[in-house]
Amino acid sequence: MKQTLLFVPTLREIPKEAEVTSHKILLRGGYIRQLAAGIYTYLPLAYKIIKKIENIIREELDAIGCSELLMPTMQPKDIWVESGRWQDYGKELMRLQDRHDRDFCLGPTHEEVITTHAREYFTSYKKFPVALYQIQTKFRDEFRPRFGLMRGREFIMKDLYSFHTSQEDLDIWYQKVRQAYQNIFDRCELNYRIVSADSGNIGGKESEEFMILCDIGEDTIVYSDESDFASNTELHNLPIGAPSPDGKGHILHAKGIEAGHIFKLGTKYSVPMKAFFVDQDQVQKPIIMGCYGIGISRLLMAILEQHYEGDKACWPKEVTPFQVHILPVDKEGSPAWELAEKVYQELDKKFEVLFDDRNERAGVKFNDADLIGINHRIIVGKKADKGIFEYKRLSDNTTRELSNLQELINILKK
Ligand code: ATP
Ligand code: MG
Repeated sequence: MKQTLLFVPTLREIPKEAEVTSHKILLRGGYIRQLAAGIYTYLPLAYKIIKKIENIIREELDAIGCSELLMPTMQPKDIWVESGRWQDYGKELMRLQDRHDRDFCLGPTHEEVITTHAREYFTSYKKFPVALYQIQTKFRDEFRPRFGLMRGREFIMKDLYSFHTSQEDLDIWYQKVRQAYQNIFDRCELNYRIVSADSGNIGGKESEEFMILCDIGEDTIVYSDESDFASNTELHNLPIGAPSPDGKGHILHAKGIEAGHIFKLGTKYSVPMKAFFVDQDQVQKPIIMGCYGIGISRLLMAILEQHYEGDKACWPKEVTPFQVHILPVDKEGSPAWELAEKVYQELDKKFEVLFDDRNERAGVKFNDADLIGINHRIIVGKKADKGIFEYKRLSDNTTRELSNLQELINILKK
């Protein structure tokens, strides 16, 4: 794609509202713009990354047998009264009325809606198990929206709900989803830890959070230096150096960003909302449920928080907005431009390429390219009249002069 056609409003100044590096890069690099506190537009660069994250999630969830649907954002009060959460959710729930003064809310999560459908259709043991997910905009009137996409009032979430006839079947599915989540976080090249957690507003007995380890995280986790034991301090507040509760190793602390949360809900919604099925022996039982969330817009920022150096971004392979960035350092009509265009025409057949065809100084192009953070960069400059261009890889800071396009393609394919 030609960069003149892409809307990337980069900024020279660091906006005052940004306190953390990933937020600064997202604003300066023209990825997002704030409309009101905790409410953002995803500009084309960010939206490309979001779609890639979404597709990774879709691939991993579809692979274990989940199917995607889309539920309404606007939800009637009565189902929230049934679950008891019209009261319990408090001020975080965005409430509104229609023209007939009927009460609604904008969904912060969808247990009520999905349970309403489940009780109508999943009435026999023959229909189980079922796992349904959606990718959708959620609303939570957070007391303190902060750090850009990290804690928004409107944000993108993937929420998955699973339905079972027994606790054993829930346990099996919970492990499958947990593994799919690990694949998703690995593909996003994240350094994370799975910790046991408090179930909060969603409920249920057992839950685990996927914590992206980084200093700006709002949660503190305690973990063992020798085993898999890890927990949110909300649950186990252990001092540094204390023996790990599993008897293996000692406790360390780390800051984490909660990017995913998986719950064994059990019958927390099916009992009050009367979602029952009939089992083999004609006995009526409440449906056993699990639910599993990933904050997609928060994840975008968490990925960046682990993939920058100084004020330069470097996106992981599977979520990068483009794969190759071509920068001619001279004006249209110059040998550099002509060679850059030739390289662009060739690479564009095989890769997602961004060609900086703007009439800008080299310095401006380089600054913007650092914010856009595409790992593979082709710089076409002084030696273009000899057919030579430079290949630069941000991830390990290697540069090479090349003149053979096939050689470049081979490098990129690796
Ligand atoms: P937190 O403790 O950070 O408020 P939560 O426990 O309320 O999160 P869940 O209800 O489990 O979050 O929602 C599932 C996922 O949605 C979270 O793991 C997180 O990644 C994301 N998420 C929750 N609240 C927000 C928000 N205000 N802005 C962006 N993402 C959010
Ligand atoms: Mg919350």
